[in-house]
Amino acid sequence: MFKGIRLKIILGFVFAIMVAEISAGLFITLRTVSTYHSSFDAVCKEVFDEEMRKTLTDTANAVTVQPGAEGEEAIVLSEPGPVNAENLKNIMFDTKLFRESSGMRLAILDASGSCMYQNDSGEFYKNSRVTEEALKGNEALSNHFSAKTIEYAIPLKDNNEVRFVIYIRDPMTQQNELVRRIVSLFAILVPASAILMFVIALFFSKSVTAPMKNLATQAKKLADGDSSALSPARGSDEISELTNALIYLSESTRESSEKAISEKTKTETILQNMSDGVMAFDTNGNLSHINPEAMRLLNRKFVDDITFNKFFKEINADITIESLQYMPSEDATERQVTIGEHTLQLSFAPIPQSAGEGGVIVIIHDITKHEKLERSRLDFVANVSHELRTPLTVIKSYSDILADTPDAEPELRTRFLDTISSETDRMARIISDLLTLSSLDENTNYKKPSEEIDIRAEIEGLVERLSLTAKKKEQELIYTPINDVPKIKGDRGGLERVLTNIISNALKYTPTGGKIQVFSRTMYNDIIIKVSDTGIGISKEQLPNIFDRFFRVDKARSRDKGGTGLGLAIAKQTIESSFHGKIMITSELNKGTDVTITIPLPKSKQ
Ligand code: ADP
Repeated sequence: MFKGIRLKIILGFVFAIMVAEISAGLFITLRTVSTYHSSFDAVCKEVFDEEMRKTLTDTANAVTVQPGAEGEEAIVLSEPGPVNAENLKNIMFDTKLFRESSGMRLAILDASGSCMYQNDSGEFYKNSRVTEEALKGNEALSNHFSAKTIEYAIPLKDNNEVRFVIYIRDPMTQQNELVRRIVSLFAILVPASAILMFVIALFFSKSVTAPMKNLATQAKKLADGDSSALSPARGSDEISELTNALIYLSESTRESSEKAISEKTKTETILQNMSDGVMAFDTNGNLSHINPEAMRLLNRKFVDDITFNKFFKEINADITIESLQYMPSEDATERQVTIGEHTLQLSFAPIPQSAGEGGVIVIIHDITKHEKLERSRLDFVANVSHELRTPLTVIKSYSDILADTPDAEPELRTRFLDTISSETDRMARIISDLLTLSSLDENTNYKKPSEEIDIRAEIEGLVERLSLTAKKKEQELIYTPINDVPKIKGDRGGLERVLTNIISNALKYTPTGGKIQVFSRTMYNDIIIKVSDTGIGISKEQLPNIFDRFFRVDKARSRDKGGTGLGLAIAKQTIESSFHGKIMITSELNKGTDVTITIPLPKSKQ
């Protein structure tokens, strides 16, 4: 209850009042004593003035004289003695000193120090310094204010010879009584006021320590992290203000730390889910952060051993942290590296020293797809140019020959014109296929026709149309619907083009006497169409490129058979973008090829 500051305040108050009162008591006592001493001095001075001194000296030296006979000297009858002492006593009793104060003592001593008169019993005049001084002929006063009495002795001389000494002793009865009263008053006053002050200080200290206690409680709660239980101080004193300021400070600190945590979480979530890899290094080149995408792209499971210079040297990035930190260029420094099958673009951005401790951030961007696309775009342009130039060259040279030989044989003319016509058709086919592909590529702008498709009827129609071609090659073309296939909605023309291409390919690349089978079925939630042939097949090495634009296993042979090398690319694009399905080819060289189309059924049909 009375711990710490409160106890100190109470003790301080009590101590202060006691010191003040004791000082006051001492002051009053000393003042009283000194006043008394001064007044004794003043009275002495007043009493023993010149005239009084003369009177006393005369009285002391008076003798009885018998007048001598005529012509003779007077005869001194007696020396100064008890009569003189008696007279001196009477004079003294008549002075203010004895009239106004009671208890004053008087002794009249002769030159030998023997008492001639004393107004009180006991030898109170003996062993006194002032008596000794006076007997030596000097007036003496002893009024030291620690003494309980004042002594005064005055010698009465006859021609420098001491006759009598008047000794006065003031026992200071009144003054001592006054001092005693003052002391006893303060003896009661000091403890009483100390008790009173204790009670006052008790209440006062509470008003001071209560806000402090509250401040301590709030601070403890803050330290324990219990900010919900904070109660602001109600008073308007400085400590209450300090408490409220502390609560406000903690609130704002909590808010800003919550903000910082949420910002950090946000940043971490962004980093964790970024499609780019991010690495952060400190100024010494130690890895301080890496996100999962960076680990995946760099093909790393553990990152403990990564340091900037060593790591980027290992992956041939040719860069050091020193070059980035001390020679920063305007643009972010970039490097391109290949790790496994990935082509990665690395962007290095030094963190300015002002933004904390500095370091370097590395953004890793996977440009494998982009690279591949870029390559295939370039290949595509080259292929298109090549594919169009070939028929154009034929057309140009044949038409030149015809123009130069107006008298050419009609048979030759017809042959040339047929070739020109078929090459023109080829060009038209290529252009038409390219336009189809391009419209499929831009499938966002391309409005897919949505007609009802009866897959079974479509295949039956196709097989019937192509059976003549099969017959010519003595091939067996059979359609086997394994189970019922529901009607779907979609790009009917597109699907027809795909199936025509696949069945035609099977016929084209299957030698005379081969067998081509078409199956259709519904399995689980998919429609499956499969075209199997017993043809020349495709080698394992070439199978992955089979859907590339202008890819042909045997260019010359394909061209002879009227192929453009775009059929399967169009088929894949159509099935994927218009039907959300898949197309798959399995093949074995010289044994045959299976092409399987899987089209998922719309949800309502499942
Ligand atoms: P093309 O117009 O040349 O037939 P495609 O894109 O339809 O173009 O086919 C690409 C290449 O795939 C063909 O040139 C051919 O070499 C090969 N191919 C396609 N289907 C078959 C098949 N059923 N058997 C063997 N090879 C095939």
